[in-house]
Amino acid sequence: MSLNFEFSAEHEAVRDTIRRLCRDELGPLVSEAEETETFPASVFRRWGELGLLGVRYPESDGGSGLDKISDCIVREELSYMSQAFATSWSAHTHLGIWPIWKIGTAEQRRRFFVPALEGAKIAGFGLSEPDGGSNVRAMKTRAERATGGWKLNGSKLYITNATIADFLLVAARTDPELKPQSISLFIVELPNAGFEMHKLRKEGIRSSETALIHITDAFVPHDCLLGETVGTYPVILESLSENRVGVAANALGMARAAFDAARSFADTRIVAGKRVGDYQAIAHKLADMSARIEAAHWLVYYGAWRVDQGTLDAATAARVKLIASETAVAVSEQAIRIHGGAGIMREYPVGRIHRDALVYVIGEGTSEVQRNIIARDLGFKP
Ligand SMILES: Cc1cc2nc3c(=O)[nH]c(=O)nc-3n(C[C@H](O)[C@H](O)[C@H](O)COP(=O)(O)OP(=O)(O)OC[C@H]3O[C@@H](n4cnc5c(N)ncnc54)[C@H](O)[C@@H]3O)c2cc1C
Repeated sequence: MSLNFEFSAEHEAVRDTIRRLCRDELGPLVSEAEETETFPASVFRRWGELGLLGVRYPESDGGSGLDKISDCIVREELSYMSQAFATSWSAHTHLGIWPIWKIGTAEQRRRFFVPALEGAKIAGFGLSEPDGGSNVRAMKTRAERATGGWKLNGSKLYITNATIADFLLVAARTDPELKPQSISLFIVELPNAGFEMHKLRKEGIRSSETALIHITDAFVPHDCLLGETVGTYPVILESLSENRVGVAANALGMARAAFDAARSFADTRIVAGKRVGDYQAIAHKLADMSARIEAAHWLVYYGAWRVDQGTLDAATAARVKLIASETAVAVSEQAIRIHGGAGIMREYPVGRIHRDALVYVIGEGTSEVQRNIIARDLGFKP
């Protein structure tokens, strides 16, 4: 029996590659993207060239043949730089294509999954609705059979990448009855005459693209019903569980970025002749932040390891996501306090990181929803 608490040389190489990319190529794009609230979509091509969109997918399917630990390393480093960039990456490389990889037909994989890995097509995932966020089962978007395919009607809310996407995976009810088994996924190529996009302005992850979509009589050919089967709700749940571990890695990256900024500030800011970090109140904050990050770090990579072992369950994923995302919020708030007035100024990163971190106690299932999943695992009925 052995417990290994070290990353492999291959994992370290992945971290080096993504760090260099962030420092040399992506980092310089972040400020303008934030200011203009626009995602530089050409970045997807570069990610594709470097094999960063297929990190956790097998080489035999066109991926980079690495593992979930590597995927989480990429997420952590992207989020350290900019959570908005990491969100666009995640909505594409996990939510928008994982279900196609999992259950898509050979033709669907060829047309959508492979070009998405290359960055030639951008993907997104439309699950949430105005009345169906935490409560997915309240989904109102309907898909009805039409000649040669399906007709979709309804709306989708807060959909990442929608305004820059070449296709979206859209969840819709294929049976009027309110039961989870009647929820199916459709690959909708864009533009589609029935899809009306409204770009949303946000407080957090400002440069990632997010939209409200009104769907009116949108025709989708039969071969774009994912896996050519109805009732794929369990695949959505499995995809969300894995992505919660991924999102936890994103949160870890944000927490580290906020901590590093606070530590550096505490080291250089002199008040009454002393570094502020030498005041016990500030030093203890930094100590708590560092301990929380260490705990989140090992939990995240334990979750990734469980994905790689094929043993991840929904409650473990919820625990990992809950702890890491709340850590990012708490650490970034403390980082603002350590900065004093400077923490509120835009030239310091901690305000942006805190706004971005708050998105992740909501997106991919709120902290309350994660607690419900965990409580159900404990045998209660919240
Ligand atoms: C920036 C951003 C990007 C997003 N990107 C995507 C995307 O690409 N695709 C997509 O499909 N979705 C996306 N989402 C949607 C996201 O998944 C939902 O916002 C989230 O699931 C919460 O749903 P809601 O906003 O409707 O909140 P609500 O469900 O209305 O929740 C409101 C409050 O009530 C609480 N609550 C609700 N139900 C319960 C309960 N049973 N027990 C206890 N408390 C409860 C919630 O925790 C929350 O505090 C995105 C959201 C954001 C903010």
